[in-house]
Amino acid sequence: MHFYSTNRRSAPASFREAVLGGQPDDGGLYFPAEIPQLPSSLIERMASIPLVDVALEVIRPYVGGDIPDDRLRQIVDETLSFPLPLVALSERISALELFHGPTLAFKDIGAGFMSRCLRYFGGGSGRRTFVIVATSGDTGGAVAAGFHGLEGIEVIILFPKGKVSRVQELQLTTFGGNVTTLEVRGTFDDCQAIAKQMLADAELNARAHLTSANSINVARWLPQQFYYFAALQQWQGAPPVISVPSGNFGNLAAGMLAARSGLPVSRFIAACNANDVVPRFMNSGSYDPRPAVATISNAMDVGSPSNLVRISEIFGGDREQLSSAMAAKSYSDEETRRTMVDVYSHCKYILDPHGAVGYLAIDEYLSANGGRGIFLATAHPVKFDVVLDVIGTQGNEPESLADLAHKPKQSVEIDNDPSAVRDMILAKL
Ligand SMILES: *Cc1c(COP(=O)(O)O)cnc(C)c1O
Repeated sequence: MHFYSTNRRSAPASFREAVLGGQPDDGGLYFPAEIPQLPSSLIERMASIPLVDVALEVIRPYVGGDIPDDRLRQIVDETLSFPLPLVALSERISALELFHGPTLAFKDIGAGFMSRCLRYFGGGSGRRTFVIVATSGDTGGAVAAGFHGLEGIEVIILFPKGKVSRVQELQLTTFGGNVTTLEVRGTFDDCQAIAKQMLADAELNARAHLTSANSINVARWLPQQFYYFAALQQWQGAPPVISVPSGNFGNLAAGMLAARSGLPVSRFIAACNANDVVPRFMNSGSYDPRPAVATISNAMDVGSPSNLVRISEIFGGDREQLSSAMAAKSYSDEETRRTMVDVYSHCKYILDPHGAVGYLAIDEYLSANGGRGIFLATAHPVKFDVVLDVIGTQGNEPESLADLAHKPKQSVEIDNDPSAVRDMILAKL
């Protein structure tokens, strides 16, 4: 399998090259040359096959022999080291809980897979690798957890100062060692712009190996298909509608890729907060990125979602096919809060604000169209302070958090200034 650039000017890359390179030189995103079709026998028997075996079948065609099968199995097995339970909240609606991993959010899966792939590919190259990651809250911790303590790898995390939660900040700023955390006085889009600029910097690239760890990296993006398979393993009945709380749209793009490979899903819903670039695009046909606005579901505060181009690519740019496969809705913070309160009082289920946006979208969709469905509970409610304000409890605090609270904060505050980051990287060479 090779990967081409969605801008179609850079040369195609193998899986290994795409993982190590992160992003093609022409500014596009890597996209697989073919979308593998899974045998229907696998789909039919899925519920009786261990998830690791299903996941291996899903990912193997993309890896295309760049990682030997026994190592790939080990990587998949280590990545899927925590449960992904499907929890029924009502007859119609179930939550796929993706927050039982090391940093309590779904990004642990993509980040865990990618860090293990980079570890495999990077071994013995002798060149220093810099992993540059812009985060709106969850990515940074998940990536850093995958790389912390690894020799020859430096992780640079950029996050928007004051725009992440107490627990996220703890997870981002307590690593130290080979993880440098920068608090940028700006937005997530500013952080992402700096990361892109570093990755494209010719001098830096000549002196070190720079790679991204955002969902644009295929090794972050592709394994996110796994949990859609986990959901269907636990699902009974007609193909579900699946609602995906979306920001940069990597998660949703992976789900749609899985469906394109044969996973039975009746429709996807892109559940967005006030950052409604994609819902407006679906309604009007015009794509109009704009600066992100801050919301209580801050991991989805993205004003120009990178992965929309991949979603479009899945359908060969055909808008009609896209519209029949996916709906998109935007919700305000007020609606999100009200949902958290309602669901807690009716189901005794604690939603985090991202999951709440996902719940709202599936509830509204099923009320209008009938059917049954799943929303992705993308993060643990304990990660978001607003949960306590809104419903008065965040549930039981996972033990891993108590340890972090005792660690010293290790981060550097900077202006929204790429040259400061560049200097910092140069100083580490
Ligand atoms: C990153 C994140 C999202 C958005 O996922 P994308 O792949 O960027 O669309 C949703 N919820 C949580 C909790 C996240 O961390």
